[in-house]
Amino acid sequence: MRSAVVGLATLIVCTGSLRAQQASVVVGSSYEPGIDVLDYDVRLELPDTGAFIRGDVTVTARRASTATRLRLDLVDWMLVREVEVNGTRVHAQHSSDALDVPLPAGSGDSVRVRVAYEGTVRDGLVVRKDSLERWTWFGDNWPNRTRQWLPTVDHPSEKATVSWTVRAPERNVVVANGGSLGAMHLTVGGRRLLETRWRESRPIPAYLMVIAAGPLVRFDVPETTCNRGEDGECVQQSVYVLPESRAWLPGVFTATGPIMSLYERLVAPFPYEKLAHLESSTRFGGMENASAIFYDGKLFPTQRVTDGLLAHEMAHQWFGDAVTEREWGHLWLSEGFATYFAALWAREKGGEAAYRAELAQMRATVLGDTVVARRPVIDTAQTNYMALLNANSYSKGGFVLSMLHHELGDSAFFRGIRSYYAAHRHGNATSDDLRVALERSSGRSLTQFFDQWLRRPGFAEPSLDWTYDARSGTVSVVARQEGRFGAFALPLTVVVTESDDATRRLVVDIPAEPRATVPLPGRFARRPKSLAFDPDSTLLARISRP
Ligand SMILES: [Zn+2]
Repeated sequence: MRSAVVGLATLIVCTGSLRAQQASVVVGSSYEPGIDVLDYDVRLELPDTGAFIRGDVTVTARRASTATRLRLDLVDWMLVREVEVNGTRVHAQHSSDALDVPLPAGSGDSVRVRVAYEGTVRDGLVVRKDSLERWTWFGDNWPNRTRQWLPTVDHPSEKATVSWTVRAPERNVVVANGGSLGAMHLTVGGRRLLETRWRESRPIPAYLMVIAAGPLVRFDVPETTCNRGEDGECVQQSVYVLPESRAWLPGVFTATGPIMSLYERLVAPFPYEKLAHLESSTRFGGMENASAIFYDGKLFPTQRVTDGLLAHEMAHQWFGDAVTEREWGHLWLSEGFATYFAALWAREKGGEAAYRAELAQMRATVLGDTVVARRPVIDTAQTNYMALLNANSYSKGGFVLSMLHHELGDSAFFRGIRSYYAAHRHGNATSDDLRVALERSSGRSLTQFFDQWLRRPGFAEPSLDWTYDARSGTVSVVARQEGRFGAFALPLTVVVTESDDATRRLVVDIPAEPRATVPLPGRFARRPKSLAFDPDSTLLARISRP
């Protein structure tokens, strides 16, 4: 996602699946070992006014023999009316925001747990009435607020398909993850309702499972080219807004087609059935819910949605949504990718200068940030997940990808990215999974690279000088890295301006040592006039001269 906080603006989130139960191995999530949720079948009823909802959720899960309970996250103030396991009513303890469901003896099989509940939602599903007396409901779960309105295994390592059946007052339009299964009008107890069904047939984590309901109008983005999804069909992109925003559409949303084309070309087909873009009440600038991106409604009346924001949230559909970090501490696999791919979109649209400007902004953010100086990008010690929405996950993560791109070159970088994506699509990944994929595509060890940029705080602060030895005609770079963040291995670009004003562009490997003297390749008949270090600012380094 992108934060809505101004100060952080530069940081710029059934049955088919049941065949899987024939597989014999139960891996389970790291959050709840022995349990592998396959599917959620969610039925929700929204009120005419207010935030009192009724839910009926059937969870289908495979379990290992060790799993005698299914622990579903659900806040205590939701009143659980009934719990069934495989059609039989059971007693489930509901406390500490968890529903502890006992499972019958068994192993490797699948179980169906049905939870019927109701209550007034306070968060997670944001319910609002605006000045025109219009009620809206928007899911806003990141990082672990799904439990506020849905019983789920609320952790990014647990991905499942989801079906939605939502009954809402009939004046509303309901959008959710996945493909539309249609809508029908009903009258229940004198209430005129619209029952809308959607199904997401690809596994997604709970924090991306959302509905939107409100007096929304739909606008289909005219596509100039067909962007094919995983099933080979053209992916429909639509914008859903409040009626008063309709006048300026498509506006910036004309960029969504070219952005999708770019990512398909660089990575893979779009991973979901459709892509909806919604004016919403998310607390973030944008939230990358799978196949239904929610944008901050405050951006719409003044047309402040930017193509950079679209590019960021759309990149998440591949990175974060289809390939999800296994643990929150690897959030850069989501936010760093979205940040960097938005820069690649800037290059596509505005050329090299626009790309350089994005990178310069990321770099400046990193070099001036206090969290970067204190904590590593891969921050598994941080338990306040909101605090992970920082310059490490976004700007430093994004810039680390730019360095990998620069060092490995277009071909090896994107082959590695594609193979990482293919291996973990609709699953989970850690930073090491990315490292292994890029090592294979480049034939280089990246252990030191990942350790120094992602597992240590800070950035390089080398003091660089040079010497000339007239007898051997050798120019050497003299590097000192004795500062607060330690020494980094740096592939340093050096531009030498010779005595006759000719220039030579060279790359030298500065070792991760406190002091090093590294000769430049080639001979120099005369003492050069000057040396420029890292002239394009491709390194996350604040270079000083002694
Ligand atoms: Zn994001």
